Amino acid sequence: MSQQSSPGTLVMKFGGTSVGSARAMTNVVQIVREARSEWPRVVVITSALSGVTNLLLESAAQAARGETAQLPEAEQTLLANHQTIATSLIPEEARRTAVLDEIAGLVRSFVELCHAISVLGEATSRALDAVASLGERMSVRLLAAVLESAGIPSKAIEASELIVTDDHFQSAHPDFSLTTERTRRILLPLLEQGLTPVITGFLGATRDGIVTTLGRGGSDYSAGIIGAVLPADDVWIWTDVDGVMTADPRLVPQAQTLSQISYSEIAELAYFGAKVLHPKTIRPVVEAGIGLRICNTFNPSHPGTRLIANGKAEKPQTGEKVIKAVTAIRKQRLVTIEGRGMLGVPGVAARAFAAVASTGTSVPLITQASSEQSICFSIPSEASSAVLTALEKTFAAELTQRDIDRVWASEDVSIITVVGHGTRHTPGVAGQIFTQLGRAGINVLAIAHGSSDVSISMVVESAETEKAVKALHELIVA
Ligand code: ADP
Ligand code: ASP
Ligand code: MG
Repeated sequence: MSQQSSPGTLVMKFGGTSVGSARAMTNVVQIVREARSEWPRVVVITSALSGVTNLLLESAAQAARGETAQLPEAEQTLLANHQTIATSLIPEEARRTAVLDEIAGLVRSFVELCHAISVLGEATSRALDAVASLGERMSVRLLAAVLESAGIPSKAIEASELIVTDDHFQSAHPDFSLTTERTRRILLPLLEQGLTPVITGFLGATRDGIVTTLGRGGSDYSAGIIGAVLPADDVWIWTDVDGVMTADPRLVPQAQTLSQISYSEIAELAYFGAKVLHPKTIRPVVEAGIGLRICNTFNPSHPGTRLIANGKAEKPQTGEKVIKAVTAIRKQRLVTIEGRGMLGVPGVAARAFAAVASTGTSVPLITQASSEQSICFSIPSEASSAVLTALEKTFAAELTQRDIDRVWASEDVSIITVVGHGTRHTPGVAGQIFTQLGRAGINVLAIAHGSSDVSISMVVESAETEKAVKALHELIVA
């Protein structure tokens, strides 16, 4: 774990809202300044300005449909958003002009890429990564220049120089050994010189230098990767809420910040929809034994949430609730494979999941039926037609022979997950959960225990999502 008494290297990641306005970026400057006074080496990772990645990807999707009329407006928005911050936070004209020129060049690449996509009539995932990564490539230049103007020696770095990935565009996987070698080679000399490297979140590159992205919300993962390979002592994720909360505060205004949470609890929360941390962030950080903290750029004196080792959290402290937090993932469908001929036939589940995997879809939840007559699992709604086609193909013979009666997908549903060590083993907790849902008149369509020991998931109709989260949250904060 981190050595709080003799800190060495701190990695801080700032999310989109944290760099999305001049006011926010002023806080970032202050936070970096303070960190540098306490830590000998500080590394900054930045997201794109809030809204930018969505705008880039929407424009690319429109271009793929042949729609380019909106491009000039998108171009203006991108320029204006960066310009506004530069104008208020970079007083030196030469520095401001230089950085805005570079950003204008990136905006031009965006327009050119979108025109190319519209001519081709399709956006490959490689092209989408080229477009999506432009947001961080713009923000990193702006933030480094703003820090320089504030007297903090900084250097903008594109993570394509540091994070080497496979070519699984839009969800690329890092090669940790190459990434370690490059990251240390490039960052350590800068840190020795007292510079603060400011690095693009979200992106990496293949060995051949083709830009990839780590998946939406992936700047947290970038911080985990860079933190693990340096290695850093601590990684701090700066966002727009006071830390990890008992529920998404946008859904449940009464949600409270948790002062601490274990790695396995946050892993379940993140996996089951809590956007506050990208689920892939946790593994490299845990494996490298690095401290992790989530804190609020807009309330920096708040201690935020500290991640703690799993063992320490197994038993709830006195007065602490067994259930720590509740979360929801929307837009899922339940796929059911059913038929009496499946009884005792080996290999049906293996073939079913192989068929699902062949479509590149992952399955967040599997429920076991009381007999072997049906298999039921959830998949993201957007994958449902591809998954059904793959299953029908795999089981074509069984469907013809009526060993399998049907393979079907439900309407959109949501997975609600209750997280906390002891959720599954403390007597009465499951009872409380289902009584609470029953009282609220919510029908539970399926139930599954989480992959780790710390969660229970339930599937409810999508219209009941908010009601279910609020009802279960009452078990935490009455
Ligand atoms: P950033 O741009 O800083 O990465 P995100 O929007 O990705 O920020 O994540 C922060 C958001 O996550 C919060 O504004 C909040 O609405 C949402 N969120 C969802 N579940 C939780 C939770 N359990 N605790 C805190 N925030 C949550
Ligand atoms: N800008 C990227 C996104 O919006 C990555 C991130 O913010 O974490 O998905
Ligand atoms: Mg995020």
